[in-house]
Amino acid sequence: MQVHTVAVVGAGTMGSGIAQICAQKGWQTRLCDAFPESLEKGMENIERFWDKGIEKGKTTKQEKKEWSKNLEFCIDLTEAVDGADLVIEAVPEILELKKEIFIQLEEIAPKNAILATNTSSISISSIANVTSCPERIIGMHFFNPVPIMKLLEIVKHEKCSEKTISFAELVGEKLGKETILVKDIPGFATSRLGVVLGNEAIRMLSEGVASASDIDTAMKLGYKHPMGPLELSDLVGLDVRRDILNSLAESFDDDSYRPHPLLDKLVSEGSLGRKTKKGIYIWDENGKKERNDLPG
Ligand code: NAD
Repeated sequence: MQVHTVAVVGAGTMGSGIAQICAQKGWQTRLCDAFPESLEKGMENIERFWDKGIEKGKTTKQEKKEWSKNLEFCIDLTEAVDGADLVIEAVPEILELKKEIFIQLEEIAPKNAILATNTSSISISSIANVTSCPERIIGMHFFNPVPIMKLLEIVKHEKCSEKTISFAELVGEKLGKETILVKDIPGFATSRLGVVLGNEAIRMLSEGVASASDIDTAMKLGYKHPMGPLELSDLVGLDVRRDILNSLAESFDDDSYRPHPLLDKLVSEGSLGRKTKKGIYIWDENGKKERNDLPG
């Protein structure tokens, strides 16, 4: 199976990154979002990434021009998926929303298209089983920032066909990612550990165990993590992490996964991390951070 046309649904942190690397690969790529301002933001993210690459001498103006030609932006989902070989959904981590999107995709996407979700934690079968074509639905979990992170976690569920799995692996390989194949257990092999670590670090911060930067330094220097759990939570998005924790708590029927109240409080105040310039830290345009006035 060849890849010519890819549609990405949701132009946020992940969707814009996924669309960017597909366009760079030379695939006809359509980035779709239900909200014009989010689509605009997604376009700006891609543009900024390429401009920074040009500034640093990693990308040429000619490459940017070629890649831009492969990218289209649309609000209309039917238009976005027209003729697509692959559709990747990257809307917020809300099961009902994802189900709605997949019910629509079954109707409007080409009958042989592979339909992937970038969910971080939701069981793929709970999404796939709302359609009558679960065999062509799969989890393709990319990491943030998508153009840089090497891992693609492929999540297969019981009804997923071998053809769908091979196709997802091929896409990963073509995009230069290292793929791992994981069973359909909520949180998979990555998010379950990642969010628990981040939530515990937030608990420690609220208990005054140490400052945010000291907790991060502890894990970087003591455990060789490339980034501390608190700065990583800000990078991922505190709302995204909160949603993943709630989704794990519901899936496993275990309240120990629930977001710590400080995480809930930050999200309800609109402090979502780097994307809003304020979260556990205060962030500037260039990704430099300083202490926020939080407990600890
Ligand atoms: P985000 O909030 O940055 O972006 C979501 C986008 O979806 C927004 O632009 C929003 O306008 C759009 N949207 C909402 N409803 C829509 C609809 N009905 N149709 C089309 N677009 C719609 O979220 P994100 O961080 O990009 O996360 C997206 C998905 O990727 C989630 O499932 C998340 O768990 C997963 N994920 C996130 C990360 C991360 O680090 N942020 C990493 C891996 C996976």
